[in-house]
Amino acid sequence: MNKPRYAMTMDTRRCVGCNACVLACKAENALPADGFRDWIVTVTGGKFPNLRQEIRSERCNHCEYPPCVDCCPTGASHVNQGGTVLVTHNKCTGCKACIASCPYDARYIHPQGYADKCTFCLHRVNADQEPACVSICPTKALEFGDLADPDSRVSQLVAARANKTLQSERGLLPHVYFLK
Ligand code: SF4
Ligand code: SF4
Ligand code: SF4
Repeated sequence: MNKPRYAMTMDTRRCVGCNACVLACKAENALPADGFRDWIVTVTGGKFPNLRQEIRSERCNHCEYPPCVDCCPTGASHVNQGGTVLVTHNKCTGCKACIASCPYDARYIHPQGYADKCTFCLHRVNADQEPACVSICPTKALEFGDLADPDSRVSQLVAARANKTLQSERGLLPHVYFLK
């Protein structure tokens, strides 16, 4: 069997920008008042009267080639199970090199002094639960799974639906796929 490669899909046709994923993440991971691991982006395109609006729930992309790991001087930022990018809190000095290197603005400094970001809710995944944001979404816009398993829901969605990753031209190989 192939090594697992965790990924998420975000269906831009289903997301209504309700912020349930943002609040679920905050509650599940006991985030500080000013700290967010996911957020909503609304992009309006086209020309009047043919305007389009895309609503996205964004988070760390758990990049295949993560500059935030490469630049971390202490080894706190690292690649873990299924390609998930994590931060070991007690190794992090809060130097912010990773924050400067991430083009997705996916990290912030926790009041306790370490860099914090989305963990793909590995604590839940390892307990056979979906990530908090995935499980709460009322429109089922989010899916999480193993891209190395062709039968997983994320593999099927990525194969069946037109999709994009954010700033793909940077070559970091993000693992959050936005279904168009
Ligand atoms: Fe690192 Fe940013 Fe990529 Fe997440 S999105 S792995 S924080 S570079
Ligand atoms: Fe590493 Fe922490 Fe510095 Fe980020 S802030 S580069 S995780 S030591
Ligand atoms: Fe937050 Fe978990 Fe969703 Fe990441 S996977 S955005 S940590 S709820």
